[in-house]
Order: sequence, then C-alpha cells, then structure tokens
Amino acid sequence: MMINKNNFIIAIDGPAGAGKSTVAKKLAENLNFLYIDTGAMYRAITYKINKEKIDINDKSAIKNMLTKTRLIYENSTLYLDGNPVGDEIRSNEVNSKVSTVSSNKYVRTSMTDLQRCIGQTTSCILDGRDIGTVVFPNADIKIFLVADVSMRAQRRYKENLEKGMDTTFSEIKKSIVERDCIDSKREIAPLSKANDAIVIDTSSLSIDDVVSKITNIYLEKINV
Ligand code: C5P
Repeated sequence: MMINKNNFIIAIDGPAGAGKSTVAKKLAENLNFLYIDTGAMYRAITYKINKEKIDINDKSAIKNMLTKTRLIYENSTLYLDGNPVGDEIRSNEVNSKVSTVSSNKYVRTSMTDLQRCIGQTTSCILDGRDIGTVVFPNADIKIFLVADVSMRAQRRYKENLEKGMDTTFSEIKKSIVERDCIDSKREIAPLSKANDAIVIDTSSLSIDDVVSKITNIYLEKINV
C-alpha cells in the first residue's frame, strides 16, 4: 500500500544547534514540502517585543502586542507585519530573550494555533522543540536530533562567522546551554523527545547523511 496524503507531517525537534533547520530546509526542498521554522516564529515575536521596548516579563503588554501582530508563512518565507524576516531575528539580544518569551503561555498558544492551522492543509516539515509532543502529537514522522554541545556551538559559530556576525565561540556555547536549560525546564511544552520519536545523533554525521537517513524513513513510511 502507498500512503498519499496532502498533509503529511514531519516533526523535527531537538536542542539548539543540532542541525534541525539546515536538515529540515533541505528535506523540504527534496520532498517539495513546506518548511516551517517554528523557532523563527518565536524569534520574530521576541524581535518585535524588543523593538517596541516591551518588558519580556510583561504578560499583558505582550498579549496586547500579539493581537496587533501579523505573522504568516508564504512559500517558506516568514513575514512579520508584512515584512520578510531576516537575520535580525538571530541577534545576540534575541538569543538572550527568546527562551523567556517562548515560555509565555499566550505566545505559545498563538504560535501553536498558527502552526496547526498551516499543517492541517499542507504537507510540511516543522522544526522546533515541541512539534512531536504538543503541536502535532500524531505527526507521521517524528525525529529528535541531538549532538554534543561543543559540536553544536562550533557549528553555530561557523554559521555566524559566514554571516559576518560578531560573536565568540564561548558566548555562543553559553547561550546554547542557557536556552536548552530554560527550554527543557519550562512548564508548558518543554523541549523533550516524544516517546515515538526516532533519535539521530548528528555529532559525526554530515547534513547530507542526516537528510538521507530521514528520506529513507519517509520512503519506508509511504510505501507501507
Ligand atoms: O530553533 P531556534 O533555536 O531558532 O529557536 C529559538 C527559541 O525559540 C528556542 O530556544 C525556544 O526558546 C523557542 N522555541 C520554542 N518552541 C519551538 C521552537 C522554538 O519554544 N517549537
């Protein structure tokens, strides 16, 4: 039997810098799926909170801001209030605040609703922290990517250098460890592996190795 559905969901979760977004983007291109970077959504909200000088702990101001915020995905591009989102959401300032913002209940509910809404009608690959556990607990495929923390920091450092961003290796490593800690310990939808997720350790694998592993899992699944 061959599965043929128009809303096949692949959930890729894991800690910061495990390679989720690079892998998810490539897979989405290969399979012609929509790619949804859910971290970018939380980052975009954090960026706007910063820009509007709202206190990240001021729940009612954040709630009010969200009612006036338009976040949409079109052709795998995220738009914040009509503008395509770029590297401004990857700044040190956003890095240091995003985990606090994403632990806000109202922010999570809004982002989860939006992600579910897109996934109801389109085949997509979503990467994040809670996709397989909370957003799409019935996802067709669940992957949990892990890698050694120094390796994750090294990859981020290299990416930042290539983008001309000014951060040191130790700052990046510290930020990754802090975010993982807050993300894993928060009350709502913490970073955790779904019971039925397949774990892939990317420490000694190339992007292409990981993409081909997941592609094989996909091909096995649709050819049941
Ligand atoms: O994936 P990325 O590292 O860009 O995510 C930035 C932050 O967004 C994470 O550290 C986490 O706080 C938050 N996030 C989340 N749930 C998701 C995706 C990201 O809480 N599904």
